[in-house]
Amino acid sequence: MNWCIDVAVQTPAHSALGDVLSYKSPVAVAPGALVRVPLGRREVLGVAWAVRSAGEDPGSEIELKPIAGVLDALPPLGDGWRDLVAFAARYYQRSLGEIALAALPPQLRDLSAVQLARRLKRQAPAACVGGEPAAAVVALTAEQTEALARFEAEPGPFLLFGSTGSGKTEVYLRSVATLLAREPAAQALVMVPEINLTPQLEARFKARFGADAVVSLHSGMTNPQRLASWLAAHGGAARIVLGTRMAVFASMPALRLIVVDEEHDPSYKQQEGARYSARDLAVWRGRREGAKVILGSATPSLESWHRSRPAEGEDAGGSYRRLAMPSRVGAGALPAVRLVDMNLQPPKTVLSGALLDAIGQRIARGEQSMVFLNRRGYAPVLACGDCGWKSECPHCSAFRVFHKIDRTLRCHHCGFTERVPRACPACGNPDIAPVGRGTERLEEHLGELFAPVRRPDGSAVRIARIDADSTRKQGALESQLAAVHAGEVDVLVGTQMIAKGHDFRRITLVSAINPDGALFSSDFRAPERLFGLLMQSAGRAGRDAAYLTAQQSSAEMWIQTHHPQHPLFAALLRHDYAAFAQGELSERAAAGMPPFAFQALLRADARTQEAAQAFLNAASAAAEALPGADRVTRYPAVPLTIQRVANVERAQMLIESGSRAALQKLLAGWQPLLHGLRRQPEGKGVIRWLVDVDPQAI
Ligand code: ADP
Ligand code: ZN
Ligand code: ZN
Repeated sequence: MNWCIDVAVQTPAHSALGDVLSYKSPVAVAPGALVRVPLGRREVLGVAWAVRSAGEDPGSEIELKPIAGVLDALPPLGDGWRDLVAFAARYYQRSLGEIALAALPPQLRDLSAVQLARRLKRQAPAACVGGEPAAAVVALTAEQTEALARFEAEPGPFLLFGSTGSGKTEVYLRSVATLLAREPAAQALVMVPEINLTPQLEARFKARFGADAVVSLHSGMTNPQRLASWLAAHGGAARIVLGTRMAVFASMPALRLIVVDEEHDPSYKQQEGARYSARDLAVWRGRREGAKVILGSATPSLESWHRSRPAEGEDAGGSYRRLAMPSRVGAGALPAVRLVDMNLQPPKTVLSGALLDAIGQRIARGEQSMVFLNRRGYAPVLACGDCGWKSECPHCSAFRVFHKIDRTLRCHHCGFTERVPRACPACGNPDIAPVGRGTERLEEHLGELFAPVRRPDGSAVRIARIDADSTRKQGALESQLAAVHAGEVDVLVGTQMIAKGHDFRRITLVSAINPDGALFSSDFRAPERLFGLLMQSAGRAGRDAAYLTAQQSSAEMWIQTHHPQHPLFAALLRHDYAAFAQGELSERAAAGMPPFAFQALLRADARTQEAAQAFLNAASAAAEALPGADRVTRYPAVPLTIQRVANVERAQMLIESGSRAALQKLLAGWQPLLHGLRRQPEGKGVIRWLVDVDPQAI
């Protein structure tokens, strides 16, 4: 008796091979089992997807290759996991094998059945925790109690709309504790947007539930660490998995609860390969597996906000339950927001006098301040005043950024790096100068301004910077954050890296010195992002009410802007997310934009802009006859904002529909047509294309 096994293997994104490959096997293999199979000249890891007796498939015994082995020491991947993978592949227009294999720890690909069995033997026995907490547990606030009561009583999904510092993390901890008290073998998945937020959260969960119960899953781990965490989750030994977006695919056979912290964060959307939204998949997975889902944020995405709207009039309301926690723990007030009108400042002012005074007062009291600027490097452009030369990247339609520390010009898009020229390459003028300002220059500027100032003990003011450049080395971010927590920094300069999540205790002043760019962006989500980022930044100030009282200080958020009348700032002054959201949503409803419509982008990369756009135009014409096309708007092809990167021309086409189903139907029919259109005349190079469903950046 022979068996015919359909196996998901890693195939190129738009492979003609289809979703699964068939093999034969003398023994039955359970669906979800990991197998090794021959593919071309190699032997690769695959997931058994469907198993049939060969009798149902006449002739297969002769044609099919046999599977090479079964990793039967490992329990098969569950139905829920396979459904999640299949859904993600279908919804985001990728191959099953690509999603399935990317969801497995890389090391699994190289282990033989024997090696794997040995690894499993070395696994610690199942960790065991009661609801018995290891650390001293705080008494809940009234708002936390109410949120948890509703969480227990209602089905969800829940949107936990809690101010920064309202104690959302404590709600997550308690909901996990309640679950484990009721079902000791259950599992919970807790997701955070960025790796740099995992250590703090991990420490809190381990303190509460014991180190053995908690494992992490993120891309900053070594392959052996990832394998160990994955095995602990898959085998059921780990009660709690903490991770970044990739963790949404963790195999967790007893999953009962999913938390998505800072659910609005764009990092939940994968920006290359399979462009999935881990937040949206979490909601889908929760429904499929009967796990409760909590999305938490002080500034929810407008999608989630809209989905959690209360019923009103004819409108039946959204399907999410909104749990509100407006107050900060310990009656700490949210920081007072101060707008500085930069039109009234002398031209070229970087830091207004009033802001500098306010920071100076903080320094005098031994408190910390944060200065936020979302642009790294020294200056975004280097320019010649004589001939107009600018530090353009020869490979991209963008400027190279001047990094003073190693005197380089670096392209932030393709990575092309050169030493700064001694003189203007075009006219020989030796006075080429930086234009504009990044965090590196801001740090230098602050250093000069505060050089004459002394701290209370007579020592010099300490200024530090945290951004992608300062934290490149392994462990650098941890040590820099530790220095801030230990009070070894007076003024912290940084990009959005410092705005999110961190529970700083001694920062009493936060400032955004140049946020205006996002007010007039072509991306309709830019104001939503800016508002979220400013609220998050504000949330770093005055988190410790007892500290403020002891210092007789108060928390402040300073914003320098040329548009102080903008409604976004009016809402921010009142910490009024709801008012901001209402304004944005009514504009979006009027314009028929998400969340009132659903979008996808078709992007094409080619050697020339004409070729890229021609592909998109042909694709648009081919879509005309497809099912769903009558309900989907196809916009004209346009170049991307940064049109050329690494000598590749990029264009995109937006498609949009009021019906998610119609959009999905069109995309499904389109895929094979796009594959056919990709072929270019001889010598013209290839077109690379991708589909981005629910794109986050237009
Ligand atoms: P959020 O995630 O909403 O920004 P956190 O969960 O980090 O807020 O809580 C802010 C601070 O308040 C943390 O230091 C936390 O330990 C503390 N905290 C949370 N809940 C309580 C409570 N019920 N009583 C006392 N302190 C609390
Ligand atoms: Zn010049
Ligand atoms: Zn470049």
